[in-house]
Amino acid sequence: MSLADSASLAPYPDPDTREHELDDLAASLGGEIVEYGRSREDRPLRALRLPSAGPAILCSANIHGIEYIASRVALGLLHGLCAGDPELQRLRARAELWVIPSINPDGYARTWAARGQGRLADMRANAAGVDLNRNFPRPGGAAPSRLPGAGSDRPGDATYRGPAPLSEPETAALDRLFAARRFHASVNLHSFMGTVIPARVSEREAYARYRELARVLAHAQPRVRYRRLAHRIFDTFTGEQEDHQHHAFGTWAVCLETFSLRASYTQHLRRPSVFWRFNPRDPAAWIANDVPGITAYFHAALELPPPPAASRRALPPGP
Ligand SMILES: [Zn+2]
Repeated sequence: MSLADSASLAPYPDPDTREHELDDLAASLGGEIVEYGRSREDRPLRALRLPSAGPAILCSANIHGIEYIASRVALGLLHGLCAGDPELQRLRARAELWVIPSINPDGYARTWAARGQGRLADMRANAAGVDLNRNFPRPGGAAPSRLPGAGSDRPGDATYRGPAPLSEPETAALDRLFAARRFHASVNLHSFMGTVIPARVSEREAYARYRELARVLAHAQPRVRYRRLAHRIFDTFTGEQEDHQHHAFGTWAVCLETFSLRASYTQHLRRPSVFWRFNPRDPAAWIANDVPGITAYFHAALELPPPPAASRRALPPGP
């Protein structure tokens, strides 16, 4: 393998190609591009909305810049719709689908510029070095957890939570979008643990509903079925997106870690760069595995009433 080959991130697209792909999908599907904010480096934060009279649902991805496969799976949902997948078409008919392929476009661009080689903390965070998935308000004002990975107060750490909740333009823009569009259900895509992590809930009924939603999701995965990691075992909240969505906005929300630990280590026992620990060489196989699961999860969530949100916020006036 030449030096150029070893530094290539193919088949993953560069940042501009990813945005053009979203434009093309919007045109093909008759969707609307919504710019819901700007990133810290002033890149547009973009969602594709497929208008419908039904409840709004959200598939978002790539809050961690290096997790390119997450972005591919989110776009894979839209490609599946274009190809006429019947379950996706049925979903579109009953819900207003929103897709955000990259919550953290600055992190994606920095990973691209570094050819995926460097420190994880630098490619995971936003341009201010903040782990955006530790930057949401903790439900009920819970104290920060001291568990490993739960978030750090030290700038430069891979899970640095930032100076304050919603201090970052990317999370603040999402919070405004969540308030304006009360999403009924949400999937937030990450890599590479091959797991489904529901919002952390202690109420028995919501906990049981999430167990069932995760079961439905895994059952629809044709090749690798992801196991559920229940957050009830952790002692507190960590500022993650799905917890904020569930508790502040009454959304059924799960984190899906695409690509499995086993597959990642089978791909490279010793990774050539941190990028190839997080991303499969063959994204198509994981899109084919995960899109049916995500689709089934949304269908099952649409059968449920919204979860009770203890700290649900009053809706602002206007759209
Ligand atoms: Zn992640």
